[in-house]
Amino acid sequence: ETLNKGWNLENSYAQLPQPFFTSQGAVPVESPKLIIFNRLIASSLGLDVESLDSDEGAQIFAGNSIPEGAEPLAQAYAGHQFGNFNMLGDGRALLLGEQITPQGERVDIQLKGSGRTPYSRGGDGRAAVGPMLREYIISEAMYALGIPTTRSLAVVSTGENIIRETERPGAVLTRVASSHIRVATFQYAARWGSIEDLRALADYTLNRHFPKVAQAENRYLLFLQEVIKRQAALVAQWQRVGFIHGVMNTDNMAISGETIDYGPCAFMDVYNPSTVFSSIDRQGRYAYGNQPYIAGWNLARFAETLLPLLHEDEEQAVQLAQDAIAQFSELYHHHWLKGMRAKLGLLDEEAEDEALIKDLLELMEKHSADYTNTFLALTFDRFEGTTLFGTTEFAEWNERWQARLDRQEGEKEVSRQLMRTSNPAVIPRNHRVEEALERAENHGDLSVMQKLLAVLSDPFEHSPEQAEYAELPAQCNTSYQTFCGT
Ligand code: AMP
Ligand code: MG
Ligand code: MG
Repeated sequence: ETLNKGWNLENSYAQLPQPFFTSQGAVPVESPKLIIFNRLIASSLGLDVESLDSDEGAQIFAGNSIPEGAEPLAQAYAGHQFGNFNMLGDGRALLLGEQITPQGERVDIQLKGSGRTPYSRGGDGRAAVGPMLREYIISEAMYALGIPTTRSLAVVSTGENIIRETERPGAVLTRVASSHIRVATFQYAARWGSIEDLRALADYTLNRHFPKVAQAENRYLLFLQEVIKRQAALVAQWQRVGFIHGVMNTDNMAISGETIDYGPCAFMDVYNPSTVFSSIDRQGRYAYGNQPYIAGWNLARFAETLLPLLHEDEEQAVQLAQDAIAQFSELYHHHWLKGMRAKLGLLDEEAEDEALIKDLLELMEKHSADYTNTFLALTFDRFEGTTLFGTTEFAEWNERWQARLDRQEGEKEVSRQLMRTSNPAVIPRNHRVEEALERAENHGDLSVMQKLLAVLSDPFEHSPEQAEYAELPAQCNTSYQTFCGT
């Protein structure tokens, strides 16, 4: 056992100019207990798994004791929430520092639910067990699906209740991220920082996430272009699996290109672009079908923050930014089409492919077909049991698809294999997630969640066990709602 439990922490963020953060510790909690500890991540981070999977570990993951090398701080940011600009910041989170992994990577270790900070506004700085376990499940599922995401290292219960609609047991989540720098961090710099502050943040972020272009003459333009590329790829991946983020405010868009902030997110069941799960998203701003547009909108806000760095001449800076932003929809479309072709087993490209894909989606919408399971059925020729597959419209579409498959040069088996690796057998179904959380939060029974996590960790393993988790709830709950800030 190492003395410092494998912690190899620095806090390079604390070197940024003063307005970007406030140094402070966590507010201690009464009796922290580990609910779940991600031994695989811990080990990949170089942490001493055995000594942290303990009450001592719980003290650390609750913020009661600070690991060697940590310099806890709350980050400042300011951004658009549902289109309205607000002063924000870590209101219930603390960055402990960056763990330097055995592979030499630098990753943020952040506590979420660790108590009030100067950015808490009216909030209590706390989080509840259910939502923190929910973030744990869904972020780990996203990782297994191959989608860039923050990870979850641990959840501890605090032994304290917090007040929400009812009293709920409190928790702290330890989140691992390649960083927590957001579009909103740049908005904060542009609005309240000096030009030197903004440049310091941009250079810091460049060095951390885009080292290849960090020394380039036109590095800020390249920076903008790279961030746009990563977001286009990311949102295309969300669309491919039916993931609805639910609260794509600019503070929830990471510059690294990772999915961040698992609040009201959920996976779509029945295909419908207007699907919204979040109880507070009354206008459907963050509906499934809107996600690419919102990503573009957020990136335009990001581009605006960089204007003073892009060119001395304002007009030219605006032109550069607009040209970069104009690339987003093309990039997104490219990734989306590539991903959807793969879901249909298309190995090459034909001009009609997009129509073929869109016609299928339209039929799915019209006949209320489950998104994930429709693609699974196509993958395994299981055309039974749903309204969609019984229609002549589908039969016609299927003929077109079969003809398209027959036209392509590649082997049939290669095409099927592509479908198997592009169409997940399981996603975190809402009823399964709720069932696991209910057992954990109200009965202290983690077994249902552990089982779910095991299944979700292998989403492309098309086994009978996975198939059980692909099933829809007996009574299809179309009014499923998620809540954030809990
Ligand atoms: P979110 O919608 O999760 O992105 O949170 C928006 C903002 O509210 C962030 O600045 C959070 O830090 C803050 N916040 C959320 N919940 C709480 C809470 N319970 N106490 C204090 N601040 C919070
Ligand atoms: Mg957030
Ligand atoms: Mg949140």
